[in-house]
Order: sequence, then structure tokens, then C-alpha cells
Amino acid sequence: MAGIEVRVARQGNVAGDSLTPDPATEARCDGCGAAADAVARASGPEGAVSLCSACLRGCLEAITIARYRFRAGVSIPWGKVTG
Ligand SMILES: [Zn+2]
Repeated sequence: MAGIEVRVARQGNVAGDSLTPDPATEARCDGCGAAADAVARASGPEGAVSLCSACLRGCLEAITIARYRFRAGVSIPWGKVTG
């Protein structure tokens, strides 16, 4: 599994079971550039990216919508889908 570390501004880092208090911790989001309260940093073979909760929510929404659109067919316009 990819490494996920949570950085909490002015508090420290949490990676799995390990908690590292560090008052100098900054939680800068790579997605929106904001200095957030906290970011989740996911690292993989191609590097790492830190995202705040608003950007993570945006990612989840984008995944949900993308899956939906492939299921529904890309030619169906929004608003004309009936449940
Ligand atoms: Zn963000």
C-alpha cells in the first residue's frame, strides 16, 4: 500500500501508528496551494502529493462522477438522467 502521512499544522505528523509531534509542521496543500489545517500526503513510485480535505473531497467527487458517467454513457447530458 502507498504511504500515507497526515500532517497537522503546528502539531506534527501521523504515519500509520507512528505519531511525531512537531510544532514546526506546515500543512501546505499541493492542490489549491492553501495553508490548510491538515493535509494527507500520499507517496508512491512517482513522488508524493499533499492534499487538504477540500481537495480530497473534490477527488472523491471526481471519482464518483467519472464512474457514473462511464456507467451512464458519456452521451447522456447532465440533468436528463431520470432515476
Ligand atoms: Zn487543497
